[in-house]
Amino acid sequence: METMETLYEDLCAAAGREKVKRDALLKRYTTFRIGGPADILVNVSDTASLVRVMTVLLEHDAPYFMIGRGSNLVFADGGFRGTVVRSCEGTGSEGFRIVSDNEEEAVVYGFAGSTLSSLSSYACDNELTGLEFASGIPGSIGGGVLMNAGAYGGELSQCVIKSTYLDLSGDRPLEGQLEGEAQKFGYRDSAYQHNGFIVTGAFFRLGKGRAREEIASKMRELNARRRDKQPLEFPSAGSAFKRPPGDFAGRLIEASGLKGFRIGGAQVSEKHCGFIVNRGGATAEDVKAVINAVRERVFADSGVMLEPEIKFAKER
Ligand SMILES: Cc1cc2nc3c(=O)[nH]c(=O)nc-3n(C[C@H](O)[C@H](O)[C@H](O)COP(=O)(O)OP(=O)(O)OC[C@H]3O[C@@H](n4cnc5c(N)ncnc54)[C@H](O)[C@@H]3O)c2cc1C
Repeated sequence: METMETLYEDLCAAAGREKVKRDALLKRYTTFRIGGPADILVNVSDTASLVRVMTVLLEHDAPYFMIGRGSNLVFADGGFRGTVVRSCEGTGSEGFRIVSDNEEEAVVYGFAGSTLSSLSSYACDNELTGLEFASGIPGSIGGGVLMNAGAYGGELSQCVIKSTYLDLSGDRPLEGQLEGEAQKFGYRDSAYQHNGFIVTGAFFRLGKGRAREEIASKMRELNARRRDKQPLEFPSAGSAFKRPPGDFAGRLIEASGLKGFRIGGAQVSEKHCGFIVNRGGATAEDVKAVINAVRERVFADSGVMLEPEIKFAKER
């Protein structure tokens, strides 16, 4: 108990007392609205405080879990015995900035916690094209890079030329960067899903030559398509499954007669079968049970084993 008290005080010193919460209900920090309490939750909005917080956690040898906007994540109903570190919208010089610029393109830096939608708006305001597809993805840059988030034919790998990270495998956080192919982007995959590093920021190469209104109109069009097709009226974590080669998870699930299939509060969306939605009071166990049932039934009917896209934080 004394250790927890010391850890809390050290985290307050590292991040600022107002950024540190005890017994934070994780359902408030995920778009699925699922998850019990974390012992401690720390909000960070810049790389320097992220480094300080991680230094404290390593010094205490304390368990931690990194999150962004919690839009691809299910926490356990029992919560997390440890510290959840949540990266938030970058502030001051950690907000977006143009780091290089020529007649054809510019490179923009963004802190890991900044959202993909605010990054897309920043690009639009500066008449930079290439991130229109990302304006409706409700994640952060860090979570987006880790997932290689994408939509409507675009994905972050097309413009992220470099990402910065913290390696926490030693005694102290070690800062580094991965460039180009070293980021190992694949479909909803990147090196960060395998190396355990914390993404601290990314550099986006964006094009010039389109007027602000043209970029804004493309973003509006894609977001209207999203509202039309996706069950945005219910909490979810987006597409529950990865797209199987040559097909769509939603199509296979609907063909198996699972539209509206429900266990507890978790339901295969009636609007888009690729989504599992929280119809009220869904637990992590409900979501797991729906995922397992869907995988089994679709495999039996079509021979395709669907792979979950949603991440489950390990119960601790
Ligand atoms: C309504 C809805 C629509 C969606 N539409 C799309 C879509 O069109 N395309 C798409 O690709 N996704 C979509 N998603 C899913 C989600 O928004 C993306 O996967 C997003 O990239 C997740 O970012 P996040 O910040 O929310 O990550 P989180 O959910 O917070 O975390 C996801 C994973 O990343 C890890 N992580 C988070 N931040 C960091 C960091 N800084 N360093 C290391 N690891 C980190 C977490 O530990 C976790 O394993 C949608 C989700 C919702 C709810």
